[in-house]
Amino acid sequence: MKNDISVLIAGGGPAGIATALSLVNRGIACMIVEPEMPADYKVGETIPPNAKPMLIRSGIDQLLADPAHLPCYGNSFIWGSDIPAETHFFTQTYQQGWHIDRTFFERQLRRHALSKGVAWLQGERVIHCEKQENGWEVSLQGDGNSRSITCDFLVDATGRSCRIARLLGLQRTRLDALTGISAMMTTEKNIQPYHTYIEATVNGWWYAAPLSDKKLSVAFMTDADLMDKQMQQPGYFLENAAETSLIGSLLEGRLQTENIQINLHPASTSLLRQRFGDSWLAVGDAAYAFDPLSSYGIVSALEGGYYAGHAIADALSGESDALPAYDGIISQAFHIYLKMHAQQYQLERRWEASGFWQRRQQPFVDDLKTVAPFSQRFPTI
Ligand SMILES: Cc1cc2nc3c(=O)[nH]c(=O)nc-3n(C[C@H](O)[C@H](O)[C@H](O)COP(=O)(O)OP(=O)(O)OC[C@H]3O[C@@H](n4cnc5c(N)ncnc54)[C@H](O)[C@@H]3O)c2cc1C
Repeated sequence: MKNDISVLIAGGGPAGIATALSLVNRGIACMIVEPEMPADYKVGETIPPNAKPMLIRSGIDQLLADPAHLPCYGNSFIWGSDIPAETHFFTQTYQQGWHIDRTFFERQLRRHALSKGVAWLQGERVIHCEKQENGWEVSLQGDGNSRSITCDFLVDATGRSCRIARLLGLQRTRLDALTGISAMMTTEKNIQPYHTYIEATVNGWWYAAPLSDKKLSVAFMTDADLMDKQMQQPGYFLENAAETSLIGSLLEGRLQTENIQINLHPASTSLLRQRFGDSWLAVGDAAYAFDPLSSYGIVSALEGGYYAGHAIADALSGESDALPAYDGIISQAFHIYLKMHAQQYQLERRWEASGFWQRRQQPFVDDLKTVAPFSQRFPTI
């Protein structure tokens, strides 16, 4: 008997949407299941300049031309030295990145996916899945009701929760305990230059990203076990931010705590040990999640989705090396990230007694022996 849909994608974030766009381009019917209604706030705003070719390839570059998204022309930072420094994208191949209005971007992606023929189930979540002879039976729940849908192929694009993989009994490995404490605030005037502001401190690092409508996204990143719990109070968070040099200078005169909500986010470098199997794969943060210092999570999710869609289309037409080839590509990107991550953190040696920095002076143990042999099927990321 024919299944209800060819590909069911759990998760309507960047990874799920990019997978769906790639699939519909290949003429394959797919459906996204997304439990959350569009939220007012989602963390993660910076898209680096080198994302441009992939945005064009995925047909979504025009979404960033909307004035809701600001250009970003470089980084201002205090890292590895007390002296503030800057890098400018101006001398690079692509001269600007973006500071996106994240919730608007996710809405744009959703509208774009719908316009391309992607089916979308809002307000329901995958709670169970069972392998059948010719695909999957997937149980969904929403608004107190449940039902089941059958599909040929199942995609785990549920972010760090990797819900499908966990339902299959698979394990996730965390390589650190990084946690983000973030707040969105409104400033009196636009903060310029349009840079990403990064500042290392004794127990972690801060970032700030100016957004449209005079919004400023500020976050402190530290390890969960080192976190000062008081940082969850807006006043204390702002006081600590104000004591820093670079981030503090952006906040001058903006220490009102009204309307500031503090959010906590898991932000560790983490990975699923097994990222594909019989008629399923994981994509985006569900497969590999990056430290926000890399500003690579959204790009990786979009890029992974692009390749995942092609790999699924090939697998459905009987190509047995399609899923290992996909895994080879995303695993290779993760290995490159691990090297860059180690180099970046090892530049900061001012606080030798600090647990946060000590933990990052050695590269994470790279024992990912399960990386599939890289195949030339797709161009490298
Ligand atoms: C503090 C912080 C700062 C960051 N800053 C940046 C940045 O500046 N630049 C950058 O590129 N990245 C940044 N990131 C990372 C970036 O946000 C993620 O990498 C990106 O969102 C991953 O996309 P995704 O689609 O894989 O997962 P998500 O965006 O997490 O989407 C997963 C979706 O799955 C849905 N879902 C969950 N469970 C189920 C279920 N059972 N059934 C169906 N659906 C389900 C969720 O509702 C969600 O919508 C940051 C992350 C953190 C924590």
